[in-house]
Amino acid sequence: MAVCARLCGVGPSRGCRRRQQRRGPAETAAADSEPDTDPEEERIEAPPPRCSLLELPPELLVEIFASLPGTDLPSLAQVCTKFRRILHTDTIWRRRCREEYGVCENLRKLEITGVSCRDVYAKLLHRYRHILGLWQPDIGPYGGLLNVVVDGLFIIGWMYLPPHDPHVDDPMRFKPLFRVHLMERKSATVECMYGHKGPHNGHIQIVKKDEFSTKCNQTDHHRMSGGRQEEFRTWLREEWGRTLEDIFHEHMQELILMKFIYTSQYDNCLTYRRIYLPPSRPDDLIQPGLFKGTYGSHGLEVVMLSFHGWLARGTKITGDPNIPAGQQTVEIDLRHRVQLPDIENLRSFNELSRLVLEVREQVRLEQQEGQLEGKEPAGRPAQEAAAAEQPAQSGQGQPFVLPVGVSSRSEDYPRTCRMCFYGTGLIAGHGFTSPERTPGLFILFDEDRFGFIWLELKSFSLYSRVRAAFRNAEAPSPQAFDDMLKSIQAVAC
Ligand SMILES: [Zn+2]
Repeated sequence: MAVCARLCGVGPSRGCRRRQQRRGPAETAAADSEPDTDPEEERIEAPPPRCSLLELPPELLVEIFASLPGTDLPSLAQVCTKFRRILHTDTIWRRRCREEYGVCENLRKLEITGVSCRDVYAKLLHRYRHILGLWQPDIGPYGGLLNVVVDGLFIIGWMYLPPHDPHVDDPMRFKPLFRVHLMERKSATVECMYGHKGPHNGHIQIVKKDEFSTKCNQTDHHRMSGGRQEEFRTWLREEWGRTLEDIFHEHMQELILMKFIYTSQYDNCLTYRRIYLPPSRPDDLIQPGLFKGTYGSHGLEVVMLSFHGWLARGTKITGDPNIPAGQQTVEIDLRHRVQLPDIENLRSFNELSRLVLEVREQVRLEQQEGQLEGKEPAGRPAQEAAAAEQPAQSGQGQPFVLPVGVSSRSEDYPRTCRMCFYGTGLIAGHGFTSPERTPGLFILFDEDRFGFIWLELKSFSLYSRVRAAFRNAEAPSPQAFDDMLKSIQAVAC
C-alpha cells in the first residue's frame, strides 16, 4: 500500500530516496526529478520517529481518505478493520461524488431514504461512469446527438434536436430519453423517459467502453389509444399544434426519432457510439465545434467542424437518406482562398462558378505535381492565408450576397463575410448511391457562422454554432479524436 507506506514514514519509497542522496551528482539530479521529494524533509538528518497511520486520529484519517480517488478506497478498506470502519464515513463519499462527478446536490436528503453517498458513488456514478459523455445513436442514416450527464442525483441521457428549419440561430431543443438513479440501496434503476405517461422501466447495457445500448421494457407507455397513426397525429397536434403535412420538413429529426422508438424495427433498442468534440488549437481559423446547418428539404442537420492542418472538415452528426451521419459533408481547402468579385459581379452565378472552377483546376494541377514528386502539395497554413487578407477587407468584412439562382432555405443570411475558400461538398443519390465530392465555395461569415455554396446543386447551406455546453465530451487526445472520426465514417458506409 504505497499511500500507507508514505504516510507512515516507512516503506520502499522513503528508503529508496535516502539511499539516492548519498550517490554522485548525476544520480542525485535524477533523484531530484522525483515528484514527491520534499526539501524540508531532506534537511532532517535523523530518521523521524516511527508513527503509524493507524495511530492518527480518525478525523484526520477521514480527511486523508476523502482526498484520495474513490477507486482507491476499496483496496484501502482491505488493510484493516479500522480503515474499513472509517471508510463507512459518508462525508468521504460525499466529497468523492462532488469532486469526481460534480454532484453538488444536497446529499443529506438521501439519508432519509436510507441511501448513502457511498451507495451513490459505487452503485450509480462509478457503475455508470462509462455512459457519461457525448454519443451518436445508431438510427439508420439519421444519427443524432445524445449527452449523458450527472444531473443532481440522476444520470440523464438528453437527446439534442436541431431547431426548426430554417432557424439555424435558434438554440438546440433537447428532451430526456432515459435516466438512472438510486431509489433504494440495492441497485440503480434505469427508466425510459419517452412518451406521455412518465418514466417507466428500461434497461441499459454497456457493450464496451465506447458503446452502450438502451432498451425500453414497457413500450405500451409510448402508446395512446386509437392506434399509431392517431398517436402520431395527436402528438403532433398536442406538442406542436400542427398537422403532419405542415410539420414534416421542420421536424425531420424528431419524426425520425419517434418513428424508430415507436416501431419495432429496432426492438425499441438503441445503440450509441461515443463521439468527442474536436480539439482546438490557437491557430484554427475559428473555434471548431458543432454547427446547425440547412440541408434543403432534409431540414436542419448537425455538423462537426474540425481542423486538420490545411484542411477543415465538416462531419455529419445527424444525417439523411442521401448522405448518412458520419460522412464528411464538406471539406475546405484552407490553402486556396477565393477572392470574391465586387457585389454586382457576385450576383452572377456564372462568374462565381468560373472563379471556383478555376481554383479546382489549380488544385488538380498541384495534386498531379505532388504525385509526380511523390509528396503532398506544399501549402500555406490557415493562419498565413488569414494574414494575407487584404487590409480593406479585414475588420468589418466585405459585402456578400448570394448569386441569383442559388437557392437558400432562408433569405436571412449574413450580408458581410470575412473570407472565402475553395471546398468540396459530398452529394449522393438516395441510399448514399454514387457519392461524389463536388466543387463549392466556403464562406466564413464570423466566429459562429459559415456557409457553403454547392455549385452543382445551385444551393446554399448556412451553418450556425451550437452553443449548448456538452459535458464529458472532450477527446482524451487528438489521436483519439481522429480515430473517432474514422470509426463513425466507417459505420456510416
Ligand atoms: Zn419507454
